[in-house]
Formats: sequence, C-alpha cells, structure tokens
Amino acid sequence: MESHNLKKIHLIATGGTIASEARSRVSTEGYKPSVIPVDELVAQIPELSDIAQMSAEQIFLKPSSAITDSDLFDLSARINELLGSDDCDGIIVTHGTDTMEETAFFLNLTVKSDKPVVVTGAMRPAHVISSDGLLNLYNAVCCAASDASRGMGVVISMNDLILSARDGVKFSTFKTDAFQAPLYGVLGTVRDGKVDYAYKPVKRHTASSEFAGMRLDPMPRVEILYMYQGCDDNLFKAAVAKGDKGIVTAGSGNGGIIREIGAAYKAENNPDAGSLPILVRSSRVTTGGVSDAFQMGTDRIIPSHDLNPHKASVLLRFALAVTEDPAEIKRIFEQY
Ligand code: ASP
Repeated sequence: MESHNLKKIHLIATGGTIASEARSRVSTEGYKPSVIPVDELVAQIPELSDIAQMSAEQIFLKPSSAITDSDLFDLSARINELLGSDDCDGIIVTHGTDTMEETAFFLNLTVKSDKPVVVTGAMRPAHVISSDGLLNLYNAVCCAASDASRGMGVVISMNDLILSARDGVKFSTFKTDAFQAPLYGVLGTVRDGKVDYAYKPVKRHTASSEFAGMRLDPMPRVEILYMYQGCDDNLFKAAVAKGDKGIVTAGSGNGGIIREIGAAYKAENNPDAGSLPILVRSSRVTTGGVSDAFQMGTDRIIPSHDLNPHKASVLLRFALAVTEDPAEIKRIFEQY
C-alpha cells in the first residue's frame, strides 16, 4: 500500500516492562525497569512502516505502580487532543502490565472519541530470548490501524488477544498469556497481523461516557478493603476516620462483607449511618462478579456487578467526583 494511504497511528509510551532491559538474554525477572525510550522501541520494528504511518512520544517513563491521577489525566487529555485532529487515526499506549487494568479502564471512561485506543505492554523485558514486547507492539499497531477497532472503546492487546479495557484483567504474575477476560471473554484476536473481532462491548465507554473529556483531579480518595476469615473492622474505621468518601470491599464470594461493617450502615445501630462512605461491594473472587441479591438495608452499599475491586475503585472515584447521591452512583455502576 502507498504509505499515504496508511492510517496515522500515534504511540504514547509510559514505561513498563516493554521498556525494560533484561539482565541477560535468559533472565526474565529482576530487570532494569522502564529505561528504553520510545524511539528505540519503535526503531526495533521497521515493519511498522508497512502497516501504519507511525509517530511516537514519551509522555513519561515509569513503572506502572508509580502512575498518578495527574499522569492519567495528562495522558487522557493528550489522547483527546490527538484524536480530535484529522492527523491521527488511532492511539497506542505502551504501559506496565501491573496496573494496565486501571489505566485502560480510566481511559475507557475519559477518552472522547470513537477512534481506536489500544493499550499494550510486555511480560518479558526487551532483549531476552522470546520477549513478547515487540510482537505485542506490532499487534497493537495492527489493531489500532484496523477499521474494525472503531467504536470498541479502549482495548488491551496482549499475547494475540484483544480485550475490552473494562473486562481485561491481569491473571498471572509471570506468564505471557497474563491478560484474560474471565467472565465475558475476549473481544477478538490478532493472528499473523490479521485483526478479527467476535464481540463488541455494550456498556458505556469513550464517546458515550459521561466522564469523557473531563479533568476531575484531585479525585476523591477511595480505599479498597480486603475481606478474609478473622478480618476485623479496624481498617474500615480508619477509612471513615480519615474522611474517605468511598470504600470498595474485595469481599468473600458474592461480595460478602464482615458483619460489623454491614451493621454500621444500619440506622438503628448507628446514628451516623447516613453519612458513612458509599461502599461498593466487589469480590476477591476472580470471576462471577457480585449480584444485588443481598438486601443490605441501606442505599449506601452498592454492588460492583462484575468490576473487580481495583476497577470498581476507578469507577467509584469518578462517580464520587460528580455526585454524592447513592442512587446516581448505583446507576453509574449499572451502566459502565
Ligand atoms: N512488571 C511491570 C510491567 O509489566 C512493571 C510495571 O507495571 O510497570 O511492565
């Protein structure tokens, strides 16, 4: 194809294992993190110029656990600026895999465009034998350059799979097939450069998100509390005492929370029940989600449906940034 007919794809690099140097050709861990600049990364795949007109920038270079709210709003604003112009047909974000779930979901809520946004990374550092980074990046460009990716929302492209930013989760701490969508499955695949979708997300995202284009920092604080046998309510009380507006529980089973926390939300037990943080019940179980079958006797406890605790906390923070009305927050959890 003539190069001027190729899609204009812009890569925004943030760091992560895909930009890390291995200790040796056979060492997959203990590498030098987030050190390879984006130009060096792109230069390693000259074949990209056959499938897209590439441009690239380094927005920051850090491990994904160090990414802040303000980094995320900068990233999202930059994507919106680029996608708002005819000079950009799609975006790739390279990112550490550890918190890729949160960033992808954050962008799914804030990108104001139907154009493709594809997040990718690597489980193995560069230069190690069988490193997955370069093929993941090549596949992500295929994905971003495909007309079929329009309207799909932000997607994660890893290990030949295309996952919705909403459903994709990191499922393994070391395997190259780390990303899965355990409840609803993957949207599609990239095989030998060919992009194929089988499903399309129907929940609200990107252009149809009420948060698209918003800059809401500083975002309200939300704690995630893990439920387990023998757990007490000390951390719950600490979150209330420090004034958090929201709490997400990584509950047992179908979002189970300990009795003491449930009791605190009942007006007959606690005169301050009506001013406790909104509590979103998620689950520590990997798949199945949380139903609204339990009647908690308060409108301040809301099920996360199938969002895991860290994705539920992203959505809860957005919700709390625009409203304190429990009915509105429940509506938001039903729609996204
Ligand atoms: N191990 C991580 C990665 O996959 C490091 C990070 O999340 O930045 O990139």
